[in-house]
Amino acid sequence: MSDLVLETRGLKRNFGAFVATNDVSLKVERGARHALIGPNGAGKTTLINLLTGVIPPSEGQVFLEGDDITSLASFKRVKRGLTRTFQINQLFNGFTPLETVTLAIAERNGIGHNLWSSIAGYGQIVEEAAELLARFGLASIMGERTVILPYGKQRLLEIALAFASKPRVLLLDEPAAGVPEDERHEVLSIVSDLPKDVTVLLIEHDMDLVFSFASRISVLVAGAVFAEGSVSEISADARVKAVYLGE
Ligand code: ADP
Repeated sequence: MSDLVLETRGLKRNFGAFVATNDVSLKVERGARHALIGPNGAGKTTLINLLTGVIPPSEGQVFLEGDDITSLASFKRVKRGLTRTFQINQLFNGFTPLETVTLAIAERNGIGHNLWSSIAGYGQIVEEAAELLARFGLASIMGERTVILPYGKQRLLEIALAFASKPRVLLLDEPAAGVPEDERHEVLSIVSDLPKDVTVLLIEHDMDLVFSFASRISVLVAGAVFAEGSVSEISADARVKAVYLGE
């Protein structure tokens, strides 16, 4: 029997008369490396916003480990293990990776408002942050200001930051987008080696990454699931090639 960790049923989202997401029923199995692909405007971002609770659906439901979370606030979804990567912005630029991840872990532990309440606890959190950063290839630069880091390292920091919330399902949003060629290999290899107990839903344009990473692929076109299958099924699907790969 399949073990679904994340599921949508008949998910629909209108913007006025425009249907951005239309009757999407997605099944993500535990431990999967599930890729969501589709041309620009296909509705990928809208679907992620529906999954994370940034916007409510017009119709349909979202289930996390069998529980209906359709009406659950975003931060409560994160607490339950559904996390997405966020693009690092100016907010983080003045901080170091160590400071950023330390704050995120403190927040997860519910002491973000009063880090100094327990010096021993604070030390432990800094240690955990350093270990997490090392896992993502950021040990040597964890004391640098984020603004001066190479772009690939900034993208890896986004993933480390998402991991600070101890996700069970990670929505990974184009991890290699904009990363220069000489840094891509490191980002791709760290993405490939993400811990297997975390289920990953990857939104990605780079087909090399999708085909090397995914265990299952859903293709979204005009808001609806157009095709779904394994890497070999999708890469051999002439309809997908025609609409998406431009062949
Ligand atoms: P993708 O991420 O696959 O490129 P999006 O989910 O961003 O696609 O967009 C899907 C469609 O929904 C696009 O045509 C976009 O213009 C439209 N759309 C997205 N958000 C809004 C919004 N807030 N208001 C109106 N239209 C929107």
